[in-house]
Order: sequence, then structure tokens, then C-alpha cells
Amino acid sequence: MSKLNQIRSDATLVADQYGAMDATESIVIEMAEDTLCLVAALDAVLELHNSDGQRWVGFPRADRQERYCTHCNKAAPCPTIAAVISELEDPRG
Ligand SMILES: [Zn+2]
Repeated sequence: MSKLNQIRSDATLVADQYGAMDATESIVIEMAEDTLCLVAALDAVLELHNSDGQRWVGFPRADRQERYCTHCNKAAPCPTIAAVISELEDPRG
């Protein structure tokens, strides 16, 4: 009886580990897929909030040029891009 319990225990342990490995692999794959979706979403934001605009600025005479975001019409990098850059460069990760 003791041997049977040992075999059952060993088999259960292996089965549980195998199940855990499958679950971990699934989670890793899902996380990678989710990460790719987030990267694509971020790419769309970065494309929308660009620094493609160029205009003359200054007062009382516009005597210098600046680049600006053609989406939100603010000087580049616009607040949206600045926030993205700040988060990506955050040492917390
Ligand atoms: Zn913008």
C-alpha cells in the first residue's frame, strides 16, 4: 500500500509539474502576443503624434523655426510623445 501511495504521489507530482509547465508556456505566449498588441498600439500613437510640422515662431517677430506635432499642434515633442518617452526611459522598468 505504501508503494502504491508513493507511485500515486510521484505520478501526481509529475502530472502537476507538466500541467504547470503548460500553463506557464501558455501564459508566456499570451504575454508575448499581448506585448505585440501593445507595441502596435504604441506605434499608432507615435505615428499620429509626430514632429513632421515645421513653423516660424518668436515674438514680436517670428525669427526661428520649430518642429511641431501635426496632430495636436504643439511643439515637438508634444506632451503625448514626451509622456511615452518618459515611461519608456523610466528606470523602474
Ligand atoms: Zn501630439
